[in-house]
Amino acid sequence: ENKVFYRDTWAEIDLDALYSNISQIREYLPKETNIFAAVKANAYGHGDIPTAKTVLAAGVHGLAVAFLDEALAIRDAGITAPILVLGATRAEDAGIAACKNISLTVFQLDWLQQAEKVIPTETSLRVHIKCDTGMGRIGITNEDELLKIDGFIRKSDRIIFEGIFTHFSTADQLNETYYNKQLSRFKYYLSCLETLPPYIHAANSAAALCHNDSLFNTVRIGIAMYGLTPSDEIKDILPFNRKEVFSLHTKIVHVKKLHAGEKVGYGADYCASEDEWIATLPIGYADGWIRKLRGFEVIADGEMVPIVGKICMDQTMIRLPRNMPVGTQVTLIGKQKELYISVDDVATKLETINYEVTCTITSRVPRVYK
Ligand code: PLP
Repeated sequence: ENKVFYRDTWAEIDLDALYSNISQIREYLPKETNIFAAVKANAYGHGDIPTAKTVLAAGVHGLAVAFLDEALAIRDAGITAPILVLGATRAEDAGIAACKNISLTVFQLDWLQQAEKVIPTETSLRVHIKCDTGMGRIGITNEDELLKIDGFIRKSDRIIFEGIFTHFSTADQLNETYYNKQLSRFKYYLSCLETLPPYIHAANSAAALCHNDSLFNTVRIGIAMYGLTPSDEIKDILPFNRKEVFSLHTKIVHVKKLHAGEKVGYGADYCASEDEWIATLPIGYADGWIRKLRGFEVIADGEMVPIVGKICMDQTMIRLPRNMPVGTQVTLIGKQKELYISVDDVATKLETINYEVTCTITSRVPRVYK
């Protein structure tokens, strides 16, 4: 699977850790609960195809992506498992989805009317109705919309009612008030239907693992299988021994001694205060290693060292405690010797969530599968 590359910067994807995380989640959930693994956004930056193959081998039932293009890429790789597109798709592309056996999310009657016209004869389109129960994003927002859509699908011989779902906006919080409101709204929508479709789903990682009243018969697991916690608030109650799958490494390409008063980087705004060893790393903001990480500490030869000066598009400078040879491995995320930098440490420095960190490491950084 691994591509040949000519650059000493890479993300290591620990497929054994991924397998172990999702297997533990599989064990924890009732046997009859189907898992759809969220592999959208290139599997949160981990690589969609290797991730999909690994989690399917570990017993997940299907895959969930955000866009039709992502689903098609997975089908083109020969994966035949159920795939659900969670986001909106253009009605005119419903035919492609039908031909490739990709399930789409629907929530507008006129979309279905248009889509039905482009579904080729001899094929059918599987759809999941999305209910907006409080996320305010996509989905039907009242019973009338739901019943019209349900009625249309039931009359259509080209469209199959395969699922109904919603998405929680606060499942990663300990306070369950809003979560409960969304859950009862979803249950109300289910009660409006005469017949339920095969897949009923609401839970993301946080809901599936920390609140067991929203499993229905299917859950959508993303962040937890990557060994990351949906939020800080629930990290101590996650019912499995998670291991981070993603790590990021580079190697020193140049080392020089600066004297007091000499500068580093654009704007010449880092100034050596004494003799200092400064090393250059071949990674920069075009890799998603963004400028806000200035000052963050990384691991060089088993020691924590700071990033100094402004991060450039393709290069970053660090201050070493001593001279180190060109080729010394530097770990930006992950474990090196006894030291560890978690995805959460980077997220904290960037004042964001761990989801954004792995997604932000761009495709220029090769993924190496272990
Ligand atoms: N379901 C939907 C609709 C989503 O948008 C996402 C991710 O954002 C997920 C499930 C997976 O969520 P998580 O990664 O928190 O498990």
